[in-house]
This record gives sequence, C-alpha cells and structure tokens, in this order.
Amino acid sequence: MLNDIEEVLYSEEQIQAKVKELGEVISRDYEGRNPLVICVLKGAFMFLSDLVKRIEVPLEVDFMAVSSYGNSTKSSGVVKIIKDLDVTVEGRDVLIVEDIIDSGLTLSYLVDVLERRNALSVKIVTLFDKPARRTVGLEADYKGFVLPDAFVVGYGLDYAEKYRNLPFIGVLKEAVYS
Ligand code: 5GP
Ligand code: MG
Ligand code: MG
Repeated sequence: MLNDIEEVLYSEEQIQAKVKELGEVISRDYEGRNPLVICVLKGAFMFLSDLVKRIEVPLEVDFMAVSSYGNSTKSSGVVKIIKDLDVTVEGRDVLIVEDIIDSGLTLSYLVDVLERRNALSVKIVTLFDKPARRTVGLEADYKGFVLPDAFVVGYGLDYAEKYRNLPFIGVLKEAVYS
C-alpha cells in the first residue's frame, strides 16, 4: 500500500494539529447553538470523527452519502444521493463536513438540497481544498489545507475504495491509476 504513494503531503501530526485548530474556531462560532453536523460519506468519516472531538458545543451527527465519481479520478458532474439523512434539517444550523473540494459540484448540489429543505443556516468545513479545479463558485466556510492539482489518498480518501486507512494524506503514483 505504501509503495503506491508518490509523496506524503501532510503527516498524521500535521492533520491532527489542523483539526484541533478548526474545532476551536467552530466551537467559538457555534457557541450557544446546537448544530447538526453532516458527514459526507465515505471520504469524510475520519475527519468527522476527529473533528467532533474538538468541537465543544452540543451537537448532533448525521450521515449522507452522495456519489459523483464512481471509481474514476474525475467528477462525472452527476450527483446522486445514495443515503439520505435520518433527521429533518428544517430550522437547524447545519454544518457539512467534507473531505475535499475539487470541482465543487458535489457540495453546491448538497447545499442547494439542504437550503431547499429550509435549514436555518448551511456552512461547510472541508479538510482539503483544490481551488485550482473549481468549476462552480463555491467556497468553504472553514478549510484546512489547500492542495495542488493532484489526486490524493489517505485519511479517509480512496482510490477505488483503497487507501482510506492511511493516517496521512499523500499523492498516489500515476502508474496506479493510468
Ligand atoms: P467535487 O464534486 O468537488 O469535484 O468532488 C468532491 C468529491 O470527490 C470529494 O468529496 C471526494 O470524495 C472526491 N475527490 C475529489 N478530489 C479528490 C482527490 O484528490 N482524491 C480523492 N480520493 N477523492 C477526491
Ligand atoms: Mg467527499
Ligand atoms: Mg472516492
């Protein structure tokens, strides 16, 4: 598995330090509120579990699964809800937890869905951002690291369902997917 990695971009320690920082800012911003924290499966599961430990306000967690990639490394542009929320978002302060924003298509679709369901507020926290690849105007409210235009794996992110269990984020060798 490690043989398939070209370069480690951020170590486990660097990621944990950033997650702690994000948790502190989010805790301040949501003081006195009870946000509904939505994990976008599967990629964000590791970030979600580390992040909520650093958020010091009462919150609820729910999960949503959307698909736009299949097993490819490029977005198909088609977003499909694979698993919907168990709870209603009406009147709730919603915080979407995402692993990485690339084209922005997945999240702009999700934000739209949640706003149409009458959420009180919808904010986005993403651990990784690849702004160079954006095709729609979308910015995260909170972001961890800005990444170069490369396909990355680890810390929850997969290639064809592999590499999610790596504790760091790294660039996959091109030979693995070409
Ligand atoms: P977008 O809709 O912004 O193009 O893509 C969003 C989703 O595509 C992310 O939530 C993530 O699941 C997947 N994705 C985008 N870039 C990468 C990447 O570099 N590596 C991996 N493993 N997944 C990515
Ligand atoms: Mg994702
Ligand atoms: Mg994936």
